[in-house]
Amino acid sequence: MARYRDAVCRLCRREGGKLFLKGDRCYKPSCAIEKRGTQPPGMHGATARRKVLAGYGQQLREKQKVKRIYFILEKQFRNYFEKALRQKGVTGENLLFMLERRLDNVVYRSGFSTSRRQARQLVNHGHIFVNGKKVNIPSFQVKQGDVVTVKDKSQANTHVEGAWQTAVGRGRPNWISTTDKDLSITISALPKREDIDATINEQLIVELYSK
Ligand code: SF4
Repeated sequence: MARYRDAVCRLCRREGGKLFLKGDRCYKPSCAIEKRGTQPPGMHGATARRKVLAGYGQQLREKQKVKRIYFILEKQFRNYFEKALRQKGVTGENLLFMLERRLDNVVYRSGFSTSRRQARQLVNHGHIFVNGKKVNIPSFQVKQGDVVTVKDKSQANTHVEGAWQTAVGRGRPNWISTTDKDLSITISALPKREDIDATINEQLIVELYSK
């Protein structure tokens, strides 16, 4: 699978806002957006003016932003859109709900990791269990009532423990509840639109793919 290997903070600067791709650092003053503002990346970034986008350009940027937030490649993103189109309800919202219910996103939002990238690694490497069974597919869709846990042996992992403590301060979305057991969460409801990043304008993506 193709991977983005450049500095991820460039992606935030390209999109003109925080995409939270780098774990703890995203919440600290050392975040590139906090330090340099939203100037575009590159040697002329400081002097370049950000173009005011409209129409196709704006739609394209919104799609790129969402793909980057969830670390999804074009083909898979397009497949999500096709599925969203076939479902009942509002297509743009259906798309976001599917992205939000991906197991790697749930691992991140639950606080088992500090970024979605780290979450994907945890899933890929077999550290995550759903209802007591190992699931190593990052795109796995969780459903209401599912219990997601970290493998017993991995619970002492300092990255996981640190992320869990950080998440206490950051807060978890309403649809995820912690259980009595440490490093275990329950999907208590399905995500609603208000639980998802309000800066995303999913309608622009629908318009882009509907051309
Ligand atoms: Fe984006 Fe995080 Fe880098 Fe800040 S630290 S620019 S939010 S990836």
